[in-house]
Amino acid sequence: MTPPLHPRWLEYKHQRNRCLLICLGGIPAAAAIGLVLPSIAPLAITAWFVASIWFSMKLSYFKCPRCEKPFIISKTRGYNGFTQKCLNCGLPKWSDPAQ
Ligand SMILES: [Zn+2]
Repeated sequence: MTPPLHPRWLEYKHQRNRCLLICLGGIPAAAAIGLVLPSIAPLAITAWFVASIWFSMKLSYFKCPRCEKPFIISKTRGYNGFTQKCLNCGLPKWSDPAQ
């Protein structure tokens, strides 16, 4: 049995899933709105675009549970959305920050 995730990693997981749902799920939703209510399609697409940017930025600035700096952004190492460890302190993703 795997140990439970640290609460901050659960928060990250929820943010990541929410971001994916909005970014990817918004495309078919905007298409469906465009078919059913074409008059509000531009508004729906704009709302989806703004929400996608907002949740992507929020996920990008998720703070590392150990060093409290952005997990995927570093002043010296740049940006890596696919990193498996903190770009600032090296904490592996999903690991216990106390260790
Ligand atoms: Zn860190």
